[in-house]
Amino acid sequence: MQYLLHNKFLNSVLFILFAFHNLTAQESSGRHICGHEMHMNQMEALVPGYRDQINKVFGLAKKVGSSDSRSNDVFKIPVVVHIVWNKPEENLHDSLIINQIEVLNQDFRLNNPDKNNIRTIFQERQADAGIEFELVEIKRVQTTATFTPFIITLPDEVKQSSGGGSDAADTEHFLNIWVCKIQAVPFLGAQILGYAYPPADLPHWPEGASASNPGFDGVVIDFRCFGRNNPLETLLPSGLTISPQGRTTTHEVGHYLGLRHIWGDGSLLGGSSCNADDGVEDTPNQGRQSNSDCNADQNTCADVEIEEPDMIENYMDYSDQACQNTFTKGQIEIMRGVLLGPRKGLIELNTAFAHINIENQLKIYPNPVRNEMQILHQGDLKITQLKVFNQFGKEVLSLEQSFLSGESITLALADWNPGLYILKAIGKDNKHSALKFIKL
Ligand SMILES: [Zn+2]
Repeated sequence: MQYLLHNKFLNSVLFILFAFHNLTAQESSGRHICGHEMHMNQMEALVPGYRDQINKVFGLAKKVGSSDSRSNDVFKIPVVVHIVWNKPEENLHDSLIINQIEVLNQDFRLNNPDKNNIRTIFQERQADAGIEFELVEIKRVQTTATFTPFIITLPDEVKQSSGGGSDAADTEHFLNIWVCKIQAVPFLGAQILGYAYPPADLPHWPEGASASNPGFDGVVIDFRCFGRNNPLETLLPSGLTISPQGRTTTHEVGHYLGLRHIWGDGSLLGGSSCNADDGVEDTPNQGRQSNSDCNADQNTCADVEIEEPDMIENYMDYSDQACQNTFTKGQIEIMRGVLLGPRKGLIELNTAFAHINIENQLKIYPNPVRNEMQILHQGDLKITQLKVFNQFGKEVLSLEQSFLSGESITLALADWNPGLYILKAIGKDNKHSALKFIKL
């Protein structure tokens, strides 16, 4: 059965391949390519109706997002970055990783320095997504493997130690980002700069819809376009004219949080289709992707009420990254809906410890800790219980103990596994205080 499905898909892919080989080969020189389209096609072939299911997911997320009772909350997503490297230049410096997280935080909080470059006609739709990213770990894995997308598959070996990659950290609670060299697609010559899977754990999906196992969930980015002003950009295949501003990652995280391409992916064949839609009301109807440029005159479709140009400012277009600066309110509704729905695990730790004043209650020393940690109570909360959770939210210690201001407690941690932990102190009326520490 699998073979037949596989074959059926292969046929359709070969058709596309032969029909558009020339076009794609030409476009590969100037096109920002992400692997999302490949994934959608692959899944539609394996599980007919996949696109419809995806649309249902988006519909649901939108519904949740539009009734977002926590619309003032800032959601914080913990991030694990895997640097899977072969040649030394692929082993990116910490500063580029930190700079990439900063770009995400700017773009998803509308703190990006270029936010005012948006044209007046779209100004009203631009908003703060209220989503932040916190780097909790950098994992570096040296490999001899190469990561090559084929016509129907994406290089998920990068997510498996058995494939020469790096195993994911708990994908329910962490956004995993793998950074590696993505090889050009054989025969097509196209260069994929990154890819991500949309949310895939909703109950109404058909059995097996998610080809990727949960350990494959996350974002993959080519090392040459990770971070802003990445000097390794020059190593991209010649003719690729993108100027990476860290927005390949912004774009892929957009997919990961449920967003479609702004043109609705209706123009896979290189033409223009105004019938495909991204499912977002406040993005203009757009028939095809931009060509890595900043063409403010581009207007591929007629709009229903007021005629407006294509929104090249949108992160989910393929416009030059230098002219991208915006998620719209409609897109934000979907992403927040996804974080309150299928990807709620990402904000669970954040939710559990929201609205607390860490500084006022506890002080710990040393942090990071190797053997013994002192906890000093310096607040006014009458603490009755201390708990410690590991980075996956699992409780690893619980102490019923009265703990008053001015007192201190010593925890012996020599035998604990290295990692990130959260210490939580619980007091009267379930008031609590919490802080993070790192065990070396
Ligand atoms: Zn994309």
